[in-house]
Amino acid sequence: MHDNNIKVQEIKDRVKTFVEQRNWQEAHNPKNLAMSIAIESAELMEIFQWLSIQESWEVKNSEQFTHLKEELADVLIYCLSLSNRLDIDVTTIIEEKLKKNEKKYPVNEKND
Ligand SMILES: [Mg+2]
Repeated sequence: MHDNNIKVQEIKDRVKTFVEQRNWQEAHNPKNLAMSIAIESAELMEIFQWLSIQESWEVKNSEQFTHLKEELADVLIYCLSLSNRLDIDVTTIIEEKLKKNEKKYPVNEKND
């Protein structure tokens, strides 16, 4: 857990450096980054458009899988960039939201 947290910070720093070295800070404002997360999410969805549920599972074993991983990475990179610009600790917000979700959606004991 702790080691993963260090790795997240390393990736966040790398994303920050990538943006700064290209002088993209002005374009990478919260509005544009939020829009970019949605746009990259749409690119991810486009891979599955018109596929059946069964076909969506088969993407993992197709030549489209590399494309899927790249679009997922694009979404995650923009998420980390937004967290950089707004000084948000992603580990903390995920842990807090998971706690909230666990309360909101308690385990149904009937299913155990
Ligand atoms: Mg993309």
